[in-house]
Amino acid sequence: MIKIKVHPWTYLTDLFFPPKCVFCGKLQSPGTRPVICYECLNNIPEDSLKCVKCGGNMHLSDGRFHCYTCKSVGRQYDAAFSIFPYKDNVRDAILRFKFSGETAAAADFGFLLSDFILRLGFSKSNIQYITYVPSDKQRERSRGFNHMKQIAGYVGKYTKIPVKDHVVEKNKSTPAQSTLKAQERAKNIVGVFSVNERALIKNKCIILLDDIFTTGATTIEVAKTLKRAGAKYVCVITLAHT
Ligand SMILES: [Zn+2]
Ligand SMILES: [Zn+2]
Repeated sequence: MIKIKVHPWTYLTDLFFPPKCVFCGKLQSPGTRPVICYECLNNIPEDSLKCVKCGGNMHLSDGRFHCYTCKSVGRQYDAAFSIFPYKDNVRDAILRFKFSGETAAAADFGFLLSDFILRLGFSKSNIQYITYVPSDKQRERSRGFNHMKQIAGYVGKYTKIPVKDHVVEKNKSTPAQSTLKAQERAKNIVGVFSVNERALIKNKCIILLDDIFTTGATTIEVAKTLKRAGAKYVCVITLAHT
């Protein structure tokens, strides 16, 4: 388990604003970080270790997980995990974070992803860097922050694996995936991503983070962009999946 050092100031402010579990809202004692209660932390479903796309078992080789089923379908990614089903407390917590400016949750989500990544046996010895699905610039502007950049920052801090921004860029604004049907989602996103610097990607082992895996259209398109640019290994990890 990752240990988080808590600044004395945090204890003090917690006395006045007691921390509440990011998922269930239960009050936690001052200085608790991440702000996730014991029950929620231990509620990670067992099937989070299966491939989020096809539901199949992952295979371990060279110290890294692979979904051979998905790998054989185009060069999309090597493995894809998701921690929680996107419902109830998890769904509410993600929505609060993305749309109500409860940005403190970035640290808690970052912790969960880090804990998961380390449990899968990933470290800076077998992964060169972590990056994330780029946000839509228009939506980022209206939201006022890049939520995945914030989460990834904490994942880098906790796992000690370097984080790289702008590895893949989104070239044009597209309608939000959540407003579209499954078939439209895949079409909506084709060809909108490009890489900045091929040398940064070629032969590299990369973890690609995202918040929600719905049809996976966006996440898979970014993973494909990395694979086409020559990435040796791409593992997709998302917080939640529908
Ligand atoms: Zn809880
Ligand atoms: Zn699969």
